[in-house]
Amino acid sequence: MQNALEANLADVRGRMLEAARRAGRDPADISLIAVTKTHSAKIVEQALMAGITIFGENKVQEAEDKIAEIGRDRAEWHLIGRLQSNKARRAIQLFDVIHSVDSLDLARRLERICKEEDRARLRVLIEVDLAGESAKTGIAENDVHEVAGWLATCERLHLDGLMIVPPYFEDPELVRPYFRRLRSLRDALDEQGLIAGTGHLSMGMSHDFEVAIEEGATMVRVGTAIFGAR
Ligand SMILES: *Cc1c(COP(=O)(O)O)cnc(C)c1O
Repeated sequence: MQNALEANLADVRGRMLEAARRAGRDPADISLIAVTKTHSAKIVEQALMAGITIFGENKVQEAEDKIAEIGRDRAEWHLIGRLQSNKARRAIQLFDVIHSVDSLDLARRLERICKEEDRARLRVLIEVDLAGESAKTGIAENDVHEVAGWLATCERLHLDGLMIVPPYFEDPELVRPYFRRLRSLRDALDEQGLIAGTGHLSMGMSHDFEVAIEEGATMVRVGTAIFGAR
């Protein structure tokens, strides 16, 4: 019998497929990141058993204990929350991908510590602040090219794409313009050869991942729709 987690997961995967089909996209181009923040290692273990291969955590400290319990190499671990500079070294040791590079200073620190730690390659995404609200984290749209240009010169950091946490709207249609703008920003970086491959778009959460997929998301970060309310 299917447990609730398996049922939720099947539902999310089905909706991802439908959204991809509507947009004429290949579903294989879209990864599901299961966001396990606040959930126990036991839940993470169940998700692994249900077929999840990528986990998203938003705090280094919290992830550290879970990753130790589960095993660093049993899944891909993505940091999706703000990274404080004093946690950068630990983050490099724990995570495969960091979605939340939100300043040139942080990028510089990550590159330096990768060298010190002998980490050959670290995939990073630039978190973009499209709303231009200074209270929000992320790099302002106008500054993204500068940071991407610097990342292109890095030995260890590898710019994998762009990430956004848009303002919350009850109606996901209102978020669509943010997703579109992130995609055109990605396309502009791609044209300038500043981004690897075609460049990932990390966008879409539980209430708006279908719209995000319609607008080109290649990584959706879904917590509540899989694990229930936190
Ligand atoms: C918590 C979180 C998510 C997942 O949010 P849900 O609404 O639970 O799907 C996605 N991205 C970031 C950055 C988060 O902090």
